Amino acid sequence: MIKQNLAEILSSIPDTVTLVAVSKTKPNEDIMEAYNAGQRIFGENKVQELSSKYESLPRDIEWHMIGHLQRNKVKYIAPFVSLIHGVDSLRLLEEIDKQASKVNRVQDVLLQIHIAKESSKFGLDETELFEILNQLDTFNHVNVRGLMGMATFTEDPNTIINEFSSLKQLFDRAKNKFPSSNLTILSMGMSGDYTMAIENGSTMIRVGSSIFGDRNYN
Ligand SMILES: *Cc1c(COP(=O)(O)O)cnc(C)c1O
Repeated sequence: MIKQNLAEILSSIPDTVTLVAVSKTKPNEDIMEAYNAGQRIFGENKVQELSSKYESLPRDIEWHMIGHLQRNKVKYIAPFVSLIHGVDSLRLLEEIDKQASKVNRVQDVLLQIHIAKESSKFGLDETELFEILNQLDTFNHVNVRGLMGMATFTEDPNTIINEFSSLKQLFDRAKNKFPSSNLTILSMGMSGDYTMAIENGSTMIRVGSSIFGDRNYN
């Protein structure tokens, strides 16, 4: 099933869009099934689960941290994580810079933008984004590669489309304002909304349940 799900998704999206297979809560066997089908990029949202999967699975997997990251946990993933999606404050960026410097890495990150109506979703607004982008010269061990956002959890496609398109417009404004930055990745779209995300400019989708099936939380 996992192999077929992956093949179906990959055949329905452009080659230019990167698929992050979101494997949170799923066992290593499921990840290996996707791996054996050729998938190499996996996303997790908890530091401990991410670290233990990294330890026990093949080393050519690119691990993405897609969840909310606490500053005191950055050190655990700094040696190996390939992209951190949810950077939502200058203080977190500073900590990532510090921990990446200790392990001699330049850490790729995305800045998370608040686009949803729900106040519970994390993220920066436009002013905060530009404040951070203005200070990028002070960081030697982080590379801000783009933006990430999550749409409102709703059945209403218009709300979702509006949110994705406003994030795309902000992404374009940021690139214009900071032409020397490396903003090339726009991470938006999950199982329920990745088609709309791609239609609105997404370059990276984070898909879990459509690949691995529903998750059981205890
Ligand atoms: C869980 C999660 C996803 C994947 O969600 P699905 O609906 O299962 O595709 C994507 N992004 C983030 C940030 C997540 O936490």
